Amino acid sequence: LPLDETGFVTGMREYRFMNLSDLGEFGLIRSIQKATRRHHSPALIGIGDDAAALRFSASRTVLVTTDLLLENVHFDLTYTDYYSLGWKSAAVNLSDIAAMGGVPRFCLSALGIPSRIPAEDILDFYRGFEQLLRLHKTTLVGGDTCSSRAGLFISVTALGEASESRIITRAGARPGDAIFVTGAPGESAAGLELLQLRSAARGMRNRKTEKRNPEARLVERHLRPVPRVAEGILLARSGCASAMIDISDGLSSDLGHICEQSGVGAEVRADLIPVSKPLKEMEKRLSKPALQYLLSGGEDYELLFTVPRQRVKKLRSLALAATEIGTITKGSGMFVVDHNGRKQALLPQGYDHFPRRSL
Ligand code: ADP
Ligand code: MG
Repeated sequence: LPLDETGFVTGMREYRFMNLSDLGEFGLIRSIQKATRRHHSPALIGIGDDAAALRFSASRTVLVTTDLLLENVHFDLTYTDYYSLGWKSAAVNLSDIAAMGGVPRFCLSALGIPSRIPAEDILDFYRGFEQLLRLHKTTLVGGDTCSSRAGLFISVTALGEASESRIITRAGARPGDAIFVTGAPGESAAGLELLQLRSAARGMRNRKTEKRNPEARLVERHLRPVPRVAEGILLARSGCASAMIDISDGLSSDLGHICEQSGVGAEVRADLIPVSKPLKEMEKRLSKPALQYLLSGGEDYELLFTVPRQRVKKLRSLALAATEIGTITKGSGMFVVDHNGRKQALLPQGYDHFPRRSL
């Protein structure tokens, strides 16, 4: 690939001979960033983090982020109910505000709706959407609605606020920092696999009676993820975190984004990553060992963050539900130490919309 010294694809002309899979999703984003850079008004933070940060006055910084959810790419209506879909569409956006340490305030939603979908289902979508917003004191203030000749198309934009000096980017990790993750990663990907195994359309029915069932727990984590908004705000206010991202693509990929943007490497200890009880209980029904879900399962919307050693004690005093899983290192490689103490390369194996072909 014609990469320049900063790792970007050089010149626009080469794109004619290139497929998206030559670039990969993140290569494409870097190329878009490069091709549009001169048009940017100076944002505090532009393309490349969980949300952009815009300064309107010395005291007011607005965070803004947008995410797209497409039928049969991001969700399958044979096992996704509309309430959950609405919930999740809001949650994934609020999660990006949380990952900057911001307070979500407003949302916009745009839908492309195939005519086969009854109005009641769309209203159910907004019941779920509104419930998630209500839990985080966020208000829907506008959007757009059109018909779609393909599948259901959902675009959500979230706006939040942050104080400029407290914003936590992906770029602040330094060698020696401890790596932490909130909650239990991997449950969502396991839930997705179980949903796909299940008979079609059972979705979230009988949720109440299934509450203690580990399968229902994993499925719920996939269909109705909870953005770690309070945790993100607490981390920003405390000043404990040096870098942060939410886990949307998978722990290994998202840690890779922190490493790349901070110019560091990482060493993760497999035995420290928390395996939830439901994931352990369901492991025999899953196609891969639990560790695979922990390292590469996406859509957890947990927060992955780094903490300088001298602030770890303060972090622990916050009583945040987060676990230390490794250390930031010099250089650029990512490694995982397995349960037998063997050190292996940790490859970003999370989701990429345009996976690069291996050469
Ligand atoms: P996330 O998983 O946190 O939503 P993404 O991996 O989707 O983040 O995006 C990474 C960064 O690239 C973000 O800053 C996002 O705003 C930006 N980005 C992604 N796609 C585009 C695009 N088509 N045009 C401009 N910026 C984009
Ligand atoms: Mg994100």
